[in-house]
Formats: sequence, C-alpha cells, structure tokens
Amino acid sequence: MRFMKSLPRMTVDQLVKEYVQIGQFLNHRWPLKNQQQRIFARIMKIVEELGELADEILTSMNLQRRSKIAKFSRENLEDEFADVLGSLILLAIEMDIDVEQVIKKKIEFTKLRFEMDHPN
Ligand SMILES: [Mg+2]
Repeated sequence: MRFMKSLPRMTVDQLVKEYVQIGQFLNHRWPLKNQQQRIFARIMKIVEELGELADEILTSMNLQRRSKIAKFSRENLEDEFADVLGSLILLAIEMDIDVEQVIKKKIEFTKLRFEMDHPN
C-alpha cells in the first residue's frame, strides 16, 4: 500500500477528534435549525462528495469527456476520497456513532462470516 510520507500517522480516534473540531466550525459558520437538519445536510454532502469521487474514478478510467480526462490527476482522486471519508465521519459525529467501535465490530463480523481466521 502507498502511504504519503510527509504527514504523521493518525489513529481513528485522532481522526474523529479532528473532525469533531471541523464539525463544530461548520455548525457555527452555517447554523441549522436542529439536529435533523444537520443530519440531512451531512447526508447530502456525502452524496455530493461520492459523486465527485465517482467522477474522478471514471476520469481515471478514460470514461469521461476528453476535456475532463486531460485534467485528471491522482491527487484529485485522493482528495475526493478524503472528502467522502471526511463527510462520513462528520455524519457519524452528528449521529453520535462511535466510528472506531462500529468499524471494529464490522471487521470482526466480516472475518467470522468468511472464516478468514481459519484459512483452509
Ligand atoms: Mg470534493
């Protein structure tokens, strides 16, 4: 796997903490009436960012118009991936979901389901 060498590593906990700050900033800058509206806004943002990521991936596969393909860069693709993950974390924070715990649980479930700990 390819890692960026210039930035220090982060735990899931640290990642979520950074996004708690970003979420507080966003809620202050663009205040919404209540939690339901904030969750709705977060969901719409995920959809938007997912579309941007899909756009970059299609471009990387030469499935877009020539003008878009000419603008493709690996950096843009990674940037959009980060936007999707960040927007998902912001939703988790708004909905009080413990990202680390639910992901750990899902990994365990997946390993058990496919018996990954007992290779045949
Ligand atoms: Mg984006």
